[in-house]
Amino acid sequence: MPFCFPEGISIDSSAGARLSLISHAHSDHGKMGNAGRHMMSAPTKAFLHGKIKPGAKILTPEFNEKIEFEDSKISLHDSGHILGSAQFLIENAESTTAFTNDFKLQGSIIQKGAEVLKADTLVIESTFGMPEYAFPERNDVYAQMASWVKQNLRNKKFIVLFGYALGKAQELTKFANEFCGISPIVHEKIYENNKIYEKFGVKLGEYSMLDHNLSNSSMLIMPTHMLSADLLQIVAEYSKRPVASCVASGWLFRNYPHSKVFPLSDHADFPQLMHYIRQAEPKTVLTTHGFEREFANYVRRKLRISARALSEQNQSFLQEFV
Ligand SMILES: [Zn+2]
Repeated sequence: MPFCFPEGISIDSSAGARLSLISHAHSDHGKMGNAGRHMMSAPTKAFLHGKIKPGAKILTPEFNEKIEFEDSKISLHDSGHILGSAQFLIENAESTTAFTNDFKLQGSIIQKGAEVLKADTLVIESTFGMPEYAFPERNDVYAQMASWVKQNLRNKKFIVLFGYALGKAQELTKFANEFCGISPIVHEKIYENNKIYEKFGVKLGEYSMLDHNLSNSSMLIMPTHMLSADLLQIVAEYSKRPVASCVASGWLFRNYPHSKVFPLSDHADFPQLMHYIRQAEPKTVLTTHGFEREFANYVRRKLRISARALSEQNQSFLQEFV
């Protein structure tokens, strides 16, 4: 969520700050406003290429590199959410503040989990800040998905996997290759993002871009927002096979048309959120995004740490960037 802190620095906001920190390239975070300077990781800059105005001043430090800004030192640290996603650590003479931004501690087949930042004040996302959001081991989910794919292939079905086009779809591309031995067809936007992952050294396996070529494979990977009964019908007609579809998402209780849901999230679940805070040992916790008030209550009650929701305006950010 966008906000300004401390003076002159904005985070994931299009506000005209002296320095704008961009955590990652998902559209609710990667906002290029009129700040004097921007700071983000090199992969984030690559994903945001089309949004960057000519002449914009953009710093792309390495993870863990300290950059001086007025009285503060700022560093970016891997948040394990998508390629290039960053946590921020802001240090000055009085205190340290860490911003997890969107993060997960759990590693995946294409990404390591986040490191924990120790700080006096911790601003932590709380997308899944309720105890019912406890995800299984990722390797177990891959195994269940692979078994579901193979069963449906035996039944002569065409497989459609849905996931967010940046982050999840790249994991699904690698999953198709590594766990199913399939070179999938992918939507154009996913193809573009796959190429940027590969440019930064992440190997995803083989795939081809969707172009009237459904007969060339037995699997299609599409952005989740395109899932509809109509789309599945069209895929069935063009592939000349009945379709089996699934969605990779942390929103376990959400219904999608004719699709199974596998809990493959790019956000921390409730146990990971609590683990992060225990390891970070902050004096104060500020929660943001999703279940922020509920999670702040848990932190106060269970961990006996001062905690509050950063803002009450954030409930509208419950989106599908998972
Ligand atoms: Zn995100």
